[in-house]
Amino acid sequence: MSAASGAVRHAAHPFYGGDFQPTKAGTRFTLTNPALRAPLAAFRGCTAHDVDRAVRSARRAFLDHARLAAPEKRCLWLNALANGLRSARTELAMLDSLEMGMPIAQALAQVDEAVACLLAFAGYASEPHGEVISTDRSHTFSTSWEEPCGVVGIISAWNYPLIIGVSALAPAVAAGNTVIIKPSETAPSSLLRVAEIASEAGLPDGIVNVLLGGARTGTQMVVHDDIDLLHFVGSTAAGRKVMMLAGGSNAKRVMLELGGKSPQIVFADAAELPGLAEAVVTAAFHNTGQLCVARSRLLVEATVADRLAEKIRTVMPQVFRVGSPLDPATNYGPIANARQLETVLRFVEVGMQEGAGYEPLETAGSLPNEGLFVAPGLFRMARNTMHVARKEIFGPLLSVIPFSDEAEAIALANDTHYGLAATVWTRDIGRARRLSRDLMAGRVDVRTNASPGAPLHALPAEPHRASGHGVLGGRQGLSAYRWRKAVQFVTA
Ligand code: NAD
Repeated sequence: MSAASGAVRHAAHPFYGGDFQPTKAGTRFTLTNPALRAPLAAFRGCTAHDVDRAVRSARRAFLDHARLAAPEKRCLWLNALANGLRSARTELAMLDSLEMGMPIAQALAQVDEAVACLLAFAGYASEPHGEVISTDRSHTFSTSWEEPCGVVGIISAWNYPLIIGVSALAPAVAAGNTVIIKPSETAPSSLLRVAEIASEAGLPDGIVNVLLGGARTGTQMVVHDDIDLLHFVGSTAAGRKVMMLAGGSNAKRVMLELGGKSPQIVFADAAELPGLAEAVVTAAFHNTGQLCVARSRLLVEATVADRLAEKIRTVMPQVFRVGSPLDPATNYGPIANARQLETVLRFVEVGMQEGAGYEPLETAGSLPNEGLFVAPGLFRMARNTMHVARKEIFGPLLSVIPFSDEAEAIALANDTHYGLAATVWTRDIGRARRLSRDLMAGRVDVRTNASPGAPLHALPAEPHRASGHGVLGGRQGLSAYRWRKAVQFVTA
């Protein structure tokens, strides 16, 4: 491990205005390898002074470069950045794997997804973004077009450190903005490296900036009067504070990607489909369940509930292998940090107290003694009213909840504060259509097959309710980082 750690550079100083900028005064943070509970490095969080300097350089870069850059130039920037990420593939994957325990094979796939996302938005950069409105007045020529917002602040979570930041950076820069990213204090180094790669790839200084720190630094960005748009990815609790604070500053636009408690609904007609149990556990336990769109409530038609729960037990060792995140065969790693492990263990206790029928599940390999590992688990007798079925746990715990008919399935699925995603397993096309309309979620997957769908950045979608708001993905996802301006020429 030490040799592996030596091959990468962990965060030490923020990067803005085209260079690393020493910061001395802020809160001290220690980066820890969760697979070993061993410290990796330490850094200081940015102060209000650092935030202000970064905003000034991002503003300058917006006025002098980003706003004036032709679409082809922005396309070239994103292509160059994508090439840089491709060249640093192993290094970026190692950073996330070491700092938050993501299995290396998944961390590598995450870099590939980040590259694909940059290339997709490089393509959207040159699409038309305005229209002419017809009027019956011969002296009037009326148009409405989109312009970049300016300086975009991005505050991100630790569960997919690289892709969360890049999937906001890509549309924001494609739209002609500059960005200031504050990664999570748990795993900031991959995004910090992205800022350095952007500079090496020839993007003008100040287009991509990365600050370090925790909630305090994040708050200083939220209240900064010269940040025009704030994209926040994190918990619903913090997102609520962000929205209120932003309203008290320059009333900046806020995009929120928050928590979820997403259902996967299995009807009896789908119970025998090949790959069903494997897909159900993958949707719940991928990234050790630390997934905003984790399908953590399994709503299953009562007649097939026991059979599916049994199948889940037997397929787990075929689907998941636990071990060192740096072993390419591992696909089930540790929990990312000690606080999150405490949360998961607390919910195991809560589930047992409320009679949810907790059962740990076996995986291939054995749980390492050192490190923040926890077995995946099933709440086999859960009810939708229980805490384990209502709260976002953000860990490898799946609640099994039976239903008797379609109406009850929809009612249970929608009986949540959240509205991020849902999956429906059925072979009945009419039912599939009704559920995709009636489920209160930004993304609905209708499945008779376990194959992966399109990547998230390709599909425009908007979270519902306490899961946030703001369109993400596709060309509409690029427009989310622009203002719309109406311009009329009333001339003789
Ligand atoms: P968190 O809310 O604790 O922190 C997220 C980020 O916000 C971090 O960078 C943190 O430093 C910063 N922050 C915290 N409090 C803040 C405040 N008051 N003002 C400004 N910044 C603040 O979340 P987390 O534990 O890092 O991540 C887990 C959560 O993120 C889960 O709820 C998960 O569902 C959510 N998430 C959502 C999505 C999505 O796309 N909807 C994606 C990933 C993670």
